[in-house]
Amino acid sequence: MLLQQSLGGMGVAFGLAVTWPELKREMDRYQPVAGMEESLIRFYEQLFQIWYEFRERIGGATALWKLEEINELLRQDHFLLHGRQVPVDGPLYRHVLGKIVEALSCLDPETSGLQKLLELPDLQELNLAEFLAKSTSFDGEKMVKYARDHKWDEAAGVEAELVAYVLFQALGPFYQSLGASVAALSDFSLWQHGFCPLCGQKPGMAMLRSDDGARILECWLCHVQWQFPRLQCPFCANKDFTKLQFFYTEEHPGRRVQLCDCCKSYLKTAVTREIGREVILELENIFTVQLDYLARREGYLPGEGLTLLS
Ligand SMILES: [Zn+2]
Ligand SMILES: [Zn+2]
Repeated sequence: MLLQQSLGGMGVAFGLAVTWPELKREMDRYQPVAGMEESLIRFYEQLFQIWYEFRERIGGATALWKLEEINELLRQDHFLLHGRQVPVDGPLYRHVLGKIVEALSCLDPETSGLQKLLELPDLQELNLAEFLAKSTSFDGEKMVKYARDHKWDEAAGVEAELVAYVLFQALGPFYQSLGASVAALSDFSLWQHGFCPLCGQKPGMAMLRSDDGARILECWLCHVQWQFPRLQCPFCANKDFTKLQFFYTEEHPGRRVQLCDCCKSYLKTAVTREIGREVILELENIFTVQLDYLARREGYLPGEGLTLLS
C-alpha cells in the first residue's frame, strides 16, 4: 500500500512514493487541468522515471549520520548538510543530466541545445567536481547566476533559468536517496525553521495534515518533510498575521495558495482533509500550475526561487 509506506506512518518524513509504479499510479489519478499540455505531463513522467531509475542505482545511500548525530545537529540549529556535500558521483550525474536533457528536447525541440552542456569542459571531471561541491550551497537564484557567469546559457542557446532547472533536476536522485534514508531515521521534529532540515533548501509545497491539521512543509529538492507553524511565513519568518493571507480557486478544491506580504512569496498548500485523501506533493505541484500563474500575476514569487515548466 503506497500511502502507508510513503506518506502516512509515524516517523516517515519523505514525500515521494517508494517506487516508480506507485508514483505512476498516483499520477494517473490526476486529470490534466485545462491548458496543461499532454506532452508536458509526459515529460514529467519521464523525469520521475529517470529519478527512480537512478535512485535505485545510487542505492539506499548509506545515511551519513546516526540518529543521535542527527538530533544533535538539529538541536544546534544546523541543517544536516551544512558545511558538507551530498555524495554525488560525477559520471552518474552526467548520465542523469543527459537523460533529462533528452527528455526535455522531446518535449520542446528548441531546448535541444542543452545537449551542449555535456560537452563543456566546465561540466567534466575536476571542473564538474568543483561545480557539484559549490552547488551544495546554491538556491535557485544562485544556480541561475552561476550558469550565466559561466555562459552556459549562451553555449546551450536557452535561458539561464532553464539551464539551472535541468542542472538541479539532475541532482534530484542524489538528494532524494539521502532524503529517504535520513527520513527513515528521523521525523525532524526537533527542527523549527522554514528551510529544509537536511539540505537547507526551501519548501516547494506544503500540506495541512488531515488528522491534526498540522502544517507540513516539503523540501523541493530532497523531498523530506517537516512540521512548521501555520501562522508564520517559512521564507522570511514573518508572524504578523495581517501580512499573511491565502487564496483558492473553484477549479482546485482543497488547495490554497499562502501569500506573505512581507517577502512577497507564495506557497501552494494541499488541505488533505478537503481533498479526501493523502497526496504526493510533487504531483500536487505540477498539476496546480494555474495557481502559480495566479500568484505571479498578483506580484508574488515562489519562495524556492525555481520556476515550474509550463
Ligand atoms: Zn532538502
Ligand atoms: Zn515572508
